[in-house]
Amino acid sequence: TITIRGLGIAFGSNRVIDALDLDVAAGDFVSIVGRSGCGKSTLLRAITGLEQPDGGAIDTDRDRTRVVFQEPRLLPWASVLDNVVVGAEGTPAQKREQAVEALALVGLTEKAGEWPSRLSGGQRQRIALARALVSRPRLLLLDEPLGALDALTRIEMQRLIERVWLNQGFTALLVTHDVTEAVTLGNRVVIMEGGRITLDRAIPAGRPRRHGDTGLALIEGEI
Ligand code: ATP
Ligand code: MG
Repeated sequence: TITIRGLGIAFGSNRVIDALDLDVAAGDFVSIVGRSGCGKSTLLRAITGLEQPDGGAIDTDRDRTRVVFQEPRLLPWASVLDNVVVGAEGTPAQKREQAVEALALVGLTEKAGEWPSRLSGGQRQRIALARALVSRPRLLLLDEPLGALDALTRIEMQRLIERVWLNQGFTALLVTHDVTEAVTLGNRVVIMEGGRITLDRAIPAGRPRRHGDTGLALIEGEI
């Protein structure tokens, strides 16, 4: 789904991405961890085409890619349902039908007519997820989507993301500062450092999805 070869991105003299290689297979869930400022968001922006590389190449299907950011970035003057309609494709009737389905998927059916400002942070982030998923993307990019949420809502959202990923079979790239989240959701965890991927570990399927599980042990010695 994504093939990245020798990617280079610099901001003036600040070389943020340096000869980075990454392959992501269809259906993978890759978690990306790395220090603040190491270039994770820049990498995601480059995958969406928002950032022009100065070297290397990215091969991916940008039309079927959607992004969820740390802040939900909703339209404040549109209803919850209309915020999801924005991400849908087809005739107005089809868009509405798909948006109703996507809202049900994230458990917000009863909030369809509400203003986003009257919802909690976790509910708003579920709308952003519904808007991203409504067009049935092949690739979902998640840039610290749960970073601003309280601990319990975060666990709820992790379960939701895991469930839709298992059901819909899209490819996911998750940037997170939470290493437990990285190994809980990812079937692969990569660490970014110095503009490159410095660690790339497969996380075995079927492990106990719990704090301190074997997935975490696989990478904690490397950090
Ligand atoms: P965080 O974990 O804090 O979100 P990050 O890994 O996502 O960090 P990026 O946002 O990708 O980091 O930024 C990487 C580096 O590139 C930083 O040094 C940042 O200052 C720089 N940078 C990012 N965008 C720009 C820009 N538009 N202009 C100049 N410098 C930029
Ligand atoms: Mg970032």
